[in-house]
Amino acid sequence: MSEVIYRKYRPKFFKEVVGQRPIKITLENEILSGNLAHAYLFVGTRGTGKTTLARLFARSLNCLNRQEKSAEPCGQCANCQMILAGRSMDIIEIDAASNTGVDNVRDNIIANSQIPPFNSQGYKVFIIDEVHMLSKSAFNALLKTLEEPPKKVIFILATTEINKVPETIISRCQRFDFRKIPNKDIIKRLTEIIEWEKVQVPENILSEIARRSEGCLRDAESLLGQVISISGGKVTEELASLVLPSSNWQAVDSLVEALRVKNLSTALNQINNLVDEGSDLSVFMADFVNYIRQIMLYKIIGPSFVIDFDDNLTQAIKKHAQDFLLEDISKLLNIILEKLSIKETIIVQLPLELTCVEFLLAQDSSSEKTSDFKNFQKESKKPLDGSPEIKKLQNNWHQVVTNAKTLNHSVAMILQTSHPLTIERNLLIIGLEYGFHKEQLDNLSVRDKLLTIFADILGKKIDLSFEVDPNYRHNHQDFKGKNESEVGDILKTFGGEML
Ligand SMILES: [Zn+2]
Repeated sequence: MSEVIYRKYRPKFFKEVVGQRPIKITLENEILSGNLAHAYLFVGTRGTGKTTLARLFARSLNCLNRQEKSAEPCGQCANCQMILAGRSMDIIEIDAASNTGVDNVRDNIIANSQIPPFNSQGYKVFIIDEVHMLSKSAFNALLKTLEEPPKKVIFILATTEINKVPETIISRCQRFDFRKIPNKDIIKRLTEIIEWEKVQVPENILSEIARRSEGCLRDAESLLGQVISISGGKVTEELASLVLPSSNWQAVDSLVEALRVKNLSTALNQINNLVDEGSDLSVFMADFVNYIRQIMLYKIIGPSFVIDFDDNLTQAIKKHAQDFLLEDISKLLNIILEKLSIKETIIVQLPLELTCVEFLLAQDSSSEKTSDFKNFQKESKKPLDGSPEIKKLQNNWHQVVTNAKTLNHSVAMILQTSHPLTIERNLLIIGLEYGFHKEQLDNLSVRDKLLTIFADILGKKIDLSFEVDPNYRHNHQDFKGKNESEVGDILKTFGGEML
């Protein structure tokens, strides 16, 4: 099925070819003007349309019914049909990967090219795929032919490894560099195919296929074929996950977040949970690297960089790009790439665990410069700041919570379970129990209101930061103890009662 899709929808006209617009336009113009080169060199990674365009080009040159102002072959005439069926005497395809001997090249190219094309109005076209695989003597034989090209003969050489093609050959060709197909173009093509196939595939699965294919349309079509073939017309995520290595982006995001707040035990727990759930860690690590790379690129290039993920993840990546220093991101990438090179390990999660440990150790030794928590080890507890301002906030925390209730109850609830941690150079850090609480408090309108509440209590303007407290239990216990006893005292004084 997968192969079928790929063959079934192989473009038969220039207008159907996905991507490679500049190359298409140049080739079409050459066909229309009749201004042809003797040899073409198509360079680019696999699955980017080199052979497809070579065949189309060859067919257009041999079509008997081509319209005057169009480069499109008709698709109907005897030549078109013969070429499409692979039976034409004038189109000779050679896979150099399986014809590396000089004799084959001599037979196939040198001798054959001297015979005029069967179709007297057309051209004899040699398409040599993976041309870099030719032996040195085979290249020499080819070069001789290119030096004195027979009339009405055109060579199209395709390669994925241009560095292995001799300069003498390259210089005799018109060269085209094929680009990887952009994700959006792949998704567009897959969408067309599922319409023709009359199957339903959720959009997120299509974008996952595109992402997995890394610019190779053939891989994308083949993956789509596999996904379709295991489902009866309706592809669900569950079914798709049988074919596509499923990505757990939520888990990737959580792990990055744990590293950001320097919570090593959370990070290691998350990794071990993945193993327990039977996740494919090699997929996870590849995703992890990809995610961090997107953070890095966004951080450097800024909003003009198009993040290659859906909206939720894009937001998460932008957020992390703000929170991480560039040098830390680069350090993290370097560490994980080094750990990924560890091939043999009995414990699959060890490379990832070591990445987290080394990254946070490196941060710990170098980070007096940030006010973030650096005490990620369980033993080293960051106590509550004992400054007068923090005490003042502790004593008035019930007021903070009550005022926040006017805003909304869930914010008040979160604050109830949080505590003021430190205040340093007018930056107040609130310690949270969970990472997702941060998002709610960071909401702009909530944040503004909280700034006012805190400014009222402290009698001055301050800035706010919300962090997951790695020593949450200990610190919150400590905070509640102080808070309740003091509040209790105050209530007693005024004849009130604690609830
Ligand atoms: Zn035709």
